[in-house]
Amino acid sequence: MEAGDRQHVVLFPYMAQGHINPFLALAELLRRRRPTLIVTLVSTPLNIQNIKSSPCPPSLSSIRLRSVPFSPAAHGLPPEAETTAAIPFHQIVTLFHASLSLQPAFEQLIEDITQKDGRPPLCIIADYCFAWSVHVARRFGAFHSIFCTSGAYGTTVYSSLWTHLPHRKTNSDEFPLPEFPDTIIHRSQLPKHLLMADGTDPWSDFLQRQISLLSETDAVIINTVEEVEKTGLRMLRKLLPCPIWPVGPVVSSPSSAIAAIAGNDHILKWLDSQPPASVLYVSFGSQNTIAAPQMKELAMGLEASRTRFLWVIRPPVGFDVKGEFKPEWLPEKFEERMRDAGTGVLVHGWAPQLEILSHASTGGFLSHCGWNSVLESLSRGVPIVAWPLSGDQLYNAKMMEEELGVCVEVARGNMESSRADRVVVEKVVKEVMHGGQRGKEIRRRVEEVRGLMKEAWTEGPGSSVKGLSEFFRAAASMRRAGMKM
Ligand code: UDP
Repeated sequence: MEAGDRQHVVLFPYMAQGHINPFLALAELLRRRRPTLIVTLVSTPLNIQNIKSSPCPPSLSSIRLRSVPFSPAAHGLPPEAETTAAIPFHQIVTLFHASLSLQPAFEQLIEDITQKDGRPPLCIIADYCFAWSVHVARRFGAFHSIFCTSGAYGTTVYSSLWTHLPHRKTNSDEFPLPEFPDTIIHRSQLPKHLLMADGTDPWSDFLQRQISLLSETDAVIINTVEEVEKTGLRMLRKLLPCPIWPVGPVVSSPSSAIAAIAGNDHILKWLDSQPPASVLYVSFGSQNTIAAPQMKELAMGLEASRTRFLWVIRPPVGFDVKGEFKPEWLPEKFEERMRDAGTGVLVHGWAPQLEILSHASTGGFLSHCGWNSVLESLSRGVPIVAWPLSGDQLYNAKMMEEELGVCVEVARGNMESSRADRVVVEKVVKEVMHGGQRGKEIRRRVEEVRGLMKEAWTEGPGSSVKGLSEFFRAAASMRRAGMKM
């Protein structure tokens, strides 16, 4: 096939690890399943540089990486602020607004591709946070779609809450979503910025604009599985007018997640020496941390549960995320005690999560329930102890506990005032890790969900196989229709 005959797909993830990783995984998937496609992934210079310097599987080496200029300092951000992992949580909304400045450069890039290829890309697949890219696609006559890196239920609830701010219209602690009266949200399930929002604040301004643009996109592909998220998908299809195709789980091969760093051998070696399914992996994702008093409660609960654990730990809320870790944030001599007993390991900074979740010694995941963490855990058969902190995480945890039965929530939120109790941590961790009645039931459900996730990608009948085919059929038919005009 001549280069000129090959269709071009442009991927445009938001600047956050939890978005870049699944887009990279999608790029990998597209190269494997549709090798004739030209796949270009676009991001800001530092992110592209990080991807280039990460160890990549062969299917990723043929992805074209293009950067669009971005100046964090022009928006009052630190110079390295090209992902959410590089900034404290309160600056996340500044990064949202700063990201709007990418539009002219993105448009120029699509223009360059169009000129070089002699036609526009077959499709632009953009992030939920870059829904504005629909205007760029329209200008060039390209099929526009959103790749939703969150689950269907979480995306629907989060979008609906931001659109209507229903908690402002009631004094009650519990209230239904306007479009979905059966879905009851508790005030404690609102992240702080949503609780404070009044429709004119910077969070509302950014998110409400992107959410309303979702209704203009041609299609949504979503990182979930039809058979796993039946309710969530039914809700999302009610919310958005375009076709929605689940294509999940789209999970990176361990080495392709960016920021996978060398020098983690000691972690995997420690896991090698532990009994099967005995270790609880603890992590709050790439951008969230908990408050210092909560860290102490968690540490004491873990110690009292007598469960082996591997905890990825960063400075607490209010401290420099990249700063030095101070022992006073934990119970006295906690780290030494755990190390001497050989029962707990603290990893400061970043851990190879996929490798850890894939390891036979890992038997549970105390997680903030970011959607990638959820998929990575469930697709490897690891049950979840949920401690959701922000965004869609709160609704991912609700759905997993109430609908899928694959997790138990242990705490929520990362403010000092949020409930976090060592006794509850001890009880829940014991229940999930040491085979209590509920723990057994959760493991059974996790195995079922793992099976459904695997089936979604089996050739022929798999729902995600079909979803991806239908998506490309729709893009190609728009291209043909465009050519006839
Ligand atoms: N991750 C990792 N090591 C860490 C923390 C996070 O590899 O120490 C990866 C994790 O495997 C996942 C992503 O970063 O792919 C985090 O995405 P998620 O949606 O779970 O949470 P977010 O960071 O977006 O809140």
